[in-house]
Amino acid sequence: MTDTASHFHASRLLRDELAVLVAYTPIVPFEVLSRRLGLPAEQIVKLDANENPYGPAPAVSEALAEFSYYHIYPDPQQSELREALAGYAGVPAAHILPTHGADEMLDYLCRLFLRPGDAIIDCPPTFGMYSFDAQLGGGRVVEIWRTAGYGIDVDAVEAAVLASATGQDDGGRVKLLFLTSPNNPSGTWLPDDELARMLALPVMVVLDEAYVEFADHASRAAWVLEHDNLVVLRTFSKAAGIAGLRLGYGICPAWLMDELWKFKQPYNVNVAATVAGLASLRDLDYLHAIVATLKAERRRLSALLATIPYLLPVPSEANFVLCHVQGRDAQHVKRALEQQGILVRHYKKPGLDNCIRISVGRPEQTDRLVEALRSL
Ligand SMILES: *Cc1c(COP(=O)(O)O)cnc(C)c1O
Repeated sequence: MTDTASHFHASRLLRDELAVLVAYTPIVPFEVLSRRLGLPAEQIVKLDANENPYGPAPAVSEALAEFSYYHIYPDPQQSELREALAGYAGVPAAHILPTHGADEMLDYLCRLFLRPGDAIIDCPPTFGMYSFDAQLGGGRVVEIWRTAGYGIDVDAVEAAVLASATGQDDGGRVKLLFLTSPNNPSGTWLPDDELARMLALPVMVVLDEAYVEFADHASRAAWVLEHDNLVVLRTFSKAAGIAGLRLGYGICPAWLMDELWKFKQPYNVNVAATVAGLASLRDLDYLHAIVATLKAERRRLSALLATIPYLLPVPSEANFVLCHVQGRDAQHVKRALEQQGILVRHYKKPGLDNCIRISVGRPEQTDRLVEALRSL
């Protein structure tokens, strides 16, 4: 049909890929819930988004208040922040790219590698943004389900990558493999030997380390220096407690940095996030102390959850604990907690049927939660 002025609607100009997408379902904002329940915001126990209940170091708020150049654009090369991150992550600044949250780097990677029809491997149950970003660009999502203990089915990943690389499957090529360690929402760790096996495959591996500070194992950031097909993602949203300011970073091989410099928005990281990130990295004693506090609280929370007859907690290396709910409906548990001003995340999907995920909070928040769970 030809477009005449009277028949034309601009929505017809949209890309076809958008038709299959659904909008992100946001959770009820904290202030709205507090009004609805008639509870002051500070009495809401928010354990549904893995945020850090302590927030950033006091030095971060001071640095933000004192900074007086908010009217000046940020440094597109992010030199000072990249130098500070190099010291923290233990890799040279030339391999580090700060982004507007780790989520921005996920978007960049999908847009850099995927043409419509190209595929990613997603290993559900896991973080939802990998398949979301891939589908935005018309990418296909090959799902390799995790095993019963939430480990990666490495044989199946290997078979899927090799079939695609030799043209034995019908679609476009598998280009990106997303791995998360510790995984969200299971809190489980991907062992070194399994990661090494997958790095030997002809695919770009994206290792999401959003929760690595809380793990009982070491980061694989420095592996990027040895593996040209690895990107490691990190964030200030969880351990550093500035989720609202949006600051993450990718640790990338040199050849990929060259492409990202052409690709990234010049001012992708704003000045407030930069000031806060630098101040966090100057006060690592605070960061380490908060992480130690949250890890100790995770152990206490897991032990207490194990005493609730209808909950089966999964051992976690992150700042949250996934629980299978047995003999009752997880959504009812979530709703009943919500009535008492306690927010947790509920899941009802394959691999996570009838589960709740509880973020690690302050000790008094754990106590309120456990008391409420006992009384249900
Ligand atoms: C929270 C989270 C992120 C997002 O981090 P931002 O820096 O806030 O964008 C990335 N990956 C996983 C697995 C997460 O849970």
